[in-house]
Amino acid sequence: MQIIDGKSISATIKKEIAEEVRRITGKGGKIPHLAAILVGDDPASDTYVNNKSKACKEVGFDSSVYRFPASASENEILEAVEFINNDPVVDGLIVQLPLPDQIDNQKVIQHIRPEKDVDGFHPVNVGRMTIGLPSYVSATPHGIMELFMRSRISTTGKNCVILGRSNIVGKPMGLLMARNAEPGNATVTTCHSKTKNLAGITSRADILIVAIGRPGFVTADMVREGAVVIDVGIHRVPSADTRSGFRLVGDVRFDEVSEKASHITPVPGGVGPMTIVSLLMNTLKASKKEIYG
Ligand code: NAP
Repeated sequence: MQIIDGKSISATIKKEIAEEVRRITGKGGKIPHLAAILVGDDPASDTYVNNKSKACKEVGFDSSVYRFPASASENEILEAVEFINNDPVVDGLIVQLPLPDQIDNQKVIQHIRPEKDVDGFHPVNVGRMTIGLPSYVSATPHGIMELFMRSRISTTGKNCVILGRSNIVGKPMGLLMARNAEPGNATVTTCHSKTKNLAGITSRADILIVAIGRPGFVTADMVREGAVVIDVGIHRVPSADTRSGFRLVGDVRFDEVSEKASHITPVPGGVGPMTIVSLLMNTLKASKKEIYG
């Protein structure tokens, strides 16, 4: 069994990005800039945004965070999006989700200019990805494709089963795995909460990608001998073995599934670090105007 080491792969990509930023700025080019809108004081969202700002600094990007109280109105957020859309300094904009109930998530996402939508959530980017045009691909599926590429795991002709059909992970993942390219060219089955005989389907998978948000859901009996297993889930569960009293686990029972898998991503240190690095890759593309010219 081989561990797919997202931590080390993401560190390599960060070095490559930092080098490219040095090259660009050395020739007098613009420093890539990522802006984030953060509404409310949810500690998890705060941590995510701080981690993204920290990652920007590591690779030499500029970043800015626009903070709003949980009571902010939809109009205030739309105005902030408009302001950032028109700010030539900012290349990429992300809005940390979820937003408070009084704000329509979709309305805000659709207000971001597709050229700055480095999260790849705008329908224009989703549509362009669907028909194979250059687009920003949402960070987690993008990061998983990068893991296949950099770990030299071929996906062509493989039976790929995806657990979960969310807009940010499962759905785009299915489209990417079925696209006419490597990585891709897989025969894809997408499963969800209404799927019947789930274990029968997962145990035929050459590649199993799990994004259902249930700690330890996938057990060894659901996995084929020699399968490649990608665990997107991330959960903080109580633990007597750590000083914090918590540990991170995925949607997959790593201890038992790793005995059967040929390759597997750990949690933490698998998909998670690739998500942030994908956002950096998209921001660099935005700064170089690679997608929309
Ligand atoms: P989500 O929006 O909650 O979607 C979960 C999907 O799983 C839904 O499609 C749901 O089906 C399906 N599902 C739930 N229970 C199921 C069951 N018992 N059997 C079969 N399907 C089931 O979740 P998400 O945003 O995709 O995230 C999934 C997990 O990945 C979460 O743990 C999240 O924290 C993690 N995540 C990690 C990263 C990272 O960077 N590592 C990034 C994003 C997400 P229905 O559609 O029928 O409800």
